[in-house]
Amino acid sequence: TAILDQPETIQAASTTNSTEARQSMRFNDLNISDSLKSRLTQAGFITPTPVQAQAIPPALEGADVLATASTGTGKTLSFLVPIIERLEATSAPSTRAKRNPIRALILLPTRELAMQVLEVYWKLVPHAKHDAVLVCGGLSENTQLDQLDRGPRLVVATPGRLEDFLRRREISINAVEMCVLDEVDRMLDMGFLPAIRRIAAAIPRQRQTMCYSATLDANIQEIVRDYVRNPVRIEIGQTSK
Ligand code: ADP
Ligand code: MG
Repeated sequence: TAILDQPETIQAASTTNSTEARQSMRFNDLNISDSLKSRLTQAGFITPTPVQAQAIPPALEGADVLATASTGTGKTLSFLVPIIERLEATSAPSTRAKRNPIRALILLPTRELAMQVLEVYWKLVPHAKHDAVLVCGGLSENTQLDQLDRGPRLVVATPGRLEDFLRRREISINAVEMCVLDEVDRMLDMGFLPAIRRIAAAIPRQRQTMCYSATLDANIQEIVRDYVRNPVRIEIGQTSK
């Protein structure tokens, strides 16, 4: 076909990355399902923020992401859009006999941040209450274990509680394909490095990893190097308000 005859043209178009192209980009221009486009529009998301515009296209193609971006730059959608698209594009219907495994894992430093991410997920995927579960301290373990029993595809967790469940074999993360480490600098400040190490060791190496940190000093770079492979690097300055 004509399309197959012109690989160079396609390559050039798909790697266009000028500032101009980014500024005029809309969620509707992304390579995502029409359904997700309309849910984003309905939720009021029309134009991606800079971190979203830079992270989502490569992440949709499976690339790892290593981004420095401070609070309020729109990190949540930058990893949720690729996660939702992949979960929906390649989902096997779950049955009672064969539950879906956990396919996406988002690690954040606090319960409050985890709840915020889950709320955005539910806003965009409203008919899937059982599909995403919070695993974090300060909330009933039994409730979380019951919810895990229903076979969610997405887990949003703080490292402490997740590691606890892992050690007790209450959760299995060996089918995770997509992993997000959000607010890495804060997680390290809070002493979560040992937990993160053990969690990462329980996830297949063959996965997509997206790391976000407000700062990326030499120490943090050295640590995240263990988790990302050949990442797309993104630096977003402080947003002026
Ligand atoms: P961060 O995680 O970087 O602190 P959030 O993902 O929480 O940022 O987003 C910050 C705020 O910006 C939220 O209120 C969110 O709804 C809003 N927001 C994010 N992306 C967009 C967008 N593309 N268009 C409009 N508002 C957005
Ligand atoms: Mg955030």
